[in-house]
Amino acid sequence: MFEKVSTDVIAELKGIFGEKRVITGDMIGADFAHDELPGGAAHMPEAVVEAASTEEVAALMKLCSAAKIPVTVRGAGTGQAGGSVPVEGGLVLSLKGMDQVVSFDEQARLLTVQPGVLLQDVKAAAEEHGLYYPPDPGEKTATIGGNVSTNAAGPCALKYGCTRDYVQDAVIVLSDGTVTRLSSGEAFASVIGSEGTLAVITEISLKLIEKPAADAILLFPFMDTESCVKAADTIINAGFAPAIAEYMDTDIVEFAGNVTGNPVFPIEMDGERVAATLMVTIEGDDDDAVMETMEAIAEMAEDLECLDILVGDTPTMKRDFWDAHDAFHTAMESGAKCANEINVTVPSQTVAELVSFAKDLGAEKALKVMAYAHVGSGGVHIHAVSDCAKEEFAVAFAGFAEAVYAKVAELGGDIGGEYGVGYAKKAYLKAALSEVDYAKLAETKASLDPAGILNPGKVI
Ligand SMILES: Cc1cc2nc3c(=O)[nH]c(=O)nc-3n(C[C@H](O)[C@H](O)[C@H](O)COP(=O)(O)OP(=O)(O)OC[C@H]3O[C@@H](n4cnc5c(N)ncnc54)[C@H](O)[C@@H]3O)c2cc1C
Repeated sequence: MFEKVSTDVIAELKGIFGEKRVITGDMIGADFAHDELPGGAAHMPEAVVEAASTEEVAALMKLCSAAKIPVTVRGAGTGQAGGSVPVEGGLVLSLKGMDQVVSFDEQARLLTVQPGVLLQDVKAAAEEHGLYYPPDPGEKTATIGGNVSTNAAGPCALKYGCTRDYVQDAVIVLSDGTVTRLSSGEAFASVIGSEGTLAVITEISLKLIEKPAADAILLFPFMDTESCVKAADTIINAGFAPAIAEYMDTDIVEFAGNVTGNPVFPIEMDGERVAATLMVTIEGDDDDAVMETMEAIAEMAEDLECLDILVGDTPTMKRDFWDAHDAFHTAMESGAKCANEINVTVPSQTVAELVSFAKDLGAEKALKVMAYAHVGSGGVHIHAVSDCAKEEFAVAFAGFAEAVYAKVAELGGDIGGEYGVGYAKKAYLKAALSEVDYAKLAETKASLDPAGILNPGKVI
């Protein structure tokens, strides 16, 4: 179906990008063959091009649609679903060099950036203007183009929503090279979160908001998973509007703590093992307002059935909590011989059911299963580790993942709701969607990318 990148095509690419920004053969770095997907196979592109402008991307797409060459867009390659990996060969279009802040409209509070600007730099640019860009999936060296293309969420989605909620408009290049600016409508909605399968996003305008003046963190340890998740729902439903309500299983706290040497969160209380800890972030207009909310929540302690309430209200304590939390993800691979993960969203009230299901199933398959979750927005991260042989782990994890994704579908969850679908979750997405919903996805793909050259082998 696709053509190879011929020497004639390379010559044309050099005409668009110049000699230096067309990389071929041994000069292509090994990183372009994979992203951060654990155990993902390597797929080398035939060439890499580094774009500097929308016009260059448009010229590239025109050339590739005529020549039937696949184009896989790459931001920072921090994805964990294989989204930026060129599974069908062809070209990788790197947008990391398109890393300029284009403008800031003070009145509209709109920050316009190129897609290669890193999330940490978007946040810093917002702060320079005394404002706030809330979405934060955890990996701050990801590009904003990658965040928009996976509709990245993360812990604060509970109060602030996902990346999609901040995109005011975007310049996109379709697979035939057409350039359009979109700010609403079906195509706009489809392109956000489409993982480079429908269009290349070359400019993004982001809405910034007022930064909360004060915040503090409350930790609530529990003897069981259900009470922990239920307490988060109780706090949310009581109208306290926490920014974050993070469920943290003690197995993951302990495992990561053993790797970092500092678990931070409670593991035992009064000689008994804690099952899970809830970390709640409260925000307010000033410290007094935050204190008032914390006191009101503390008054509910009996209803919440927590073992204790711990307060983190100094910058050091807050940083320590988040450092310990952020270590969960990175500790998995360094702490065990084999590790893999499942990242999804489910309706918030089913988080405990999914976690318990995964833990019981893991025990049957001799996998150590650990989890943390963003209660309220329903993002769940399930990690499975083992020190068995790699082949044995691969077989056990495949069976585990199939059953967990089926459970996610049964609970009405979204397989790609955290980290996207890429190629890693493609089969599970197909199994989870109804025929009608799957046909709708295929229809959108056919209408926006009729040549099928944008990121083939992904999502559907
Ligand atoms: C430690 C760690 C924690 C993480 N936590 C989370 C998390 O909580 N939630 C979450 O969702 N993800 C998480 N991720 C995954 C990853 O960081 C995000 O998916 C991120 O948004 C990807 O950005 P990127 O620039 O690395 O994109 P890439 O990995 O390069 O690409 C991701 C996808 O977007 C497409 N794409 C990239 N840029 C564009 C563009 N401009 N136009 C069109 N398509 C494009 C690619 O083709 C690919 O399909 C985590 C990763 C790590 C390593």
